[in-house]
Amino acid sequence: MAPSNSRPLLVVDAVEATYSHAIRALSGVSLTVAPGEIVALLGANGAGKTTTLKAVTNLLPAERGQIVAGGISYDGLNVARTSTAALVRRGLVGVLEGRHCFKSLTVEENLVTGGLGRSGSRADIRRDLARVYALFPRLAERRRSAAGLCSGGEQQMTAIGRALMARPRLLVLDEPSMGLAPLIVEDIFRALKRLNRDEGLSILVAEQNSTVALRHADRASVLENGRVVLAGTAAELAARDDVKAFYLGLATPHRDEPARLAQVV
Ligand code: ATP
Repeated sequence: MAPSNSRPLLVVDAVEATYSHAIRALSGVSLTVAPGEIVALLGANGAGKTTTLKAVTNLLPAERGQIVAGGISYDGLNVARTSTAALVRRGLVGVLEGRHCFKSLTVEENLVTGGLGRSGSRADIRRDLARVYALFPRLAERRRSAAGLCSGGEQQMTAIGRALMARPRLLVLDEPSMGLAPLIVEDIFRALKRLNRDEGLSILVAEQNSTVALRHADRASVLENGRVVLAGTAAELAARDDVKAFYLGLATPHRDEPARLAQVV
């Protein structure tokens, strides 16, 4: 866990974002990620998690999206003025929703593509591959299989492994648990936690699966309708009854109760 006084690696400051200058997706989202921290971004479908992550990796313009107010800085860089490729070279690497792999390439070929942006030697690439295989032993077994023939969990591990080949300092993940069996989800989060603990990797992870995300994160923010409605340590949020009711599925809210959290931060 990061010391609380470290200068943030990522600062998202009062970001408002729209699509096609018409559809408002974010209304003043703020959050930070300190070096060595795991921060979870929670919320239901359509709350704005993916939009926040696309803003952080400067991928909104590719979706006809735009930041209309506020700003984002990563390691002192103005994200909106830095290409996604340049951000990757500086260590801000995303794993987008849907575990995109090159389906006809083997698992190993997919992994190698992740290191292409760096001018690493063959020995560097071999070392980085060994590191990914140590983290995800299933990928070592499947290294010569076409990614398209692998299970959903193996494809998600391949997508994460490819991002790790770029040697990130901040890994940004969009719903890594989506559609995967609980045991696989646990494997993936445990691997992320290990990288965080052993190598100080900072992580920003969007999740609908709040239970698993809060178990592994240091802090979390809850998004609703493009606003942060709650933020705190993972332990604080996991202990709150309203969070349990609405996001952890541990209690059934009364039918007439508004399906939103009252406290706006
Ligand atoms: P999900 O889990 O479904 O991905 P989310 O929390 O990630 O949900 P976003 O995908 O960020 O939410 O969506 C936030 C809002 O922006 C929604 O109202 C959504 O309909 C809208 N939106 C998202 N992508 C686009 C797009 N490319 N064009 C127009 N509107 C979009």
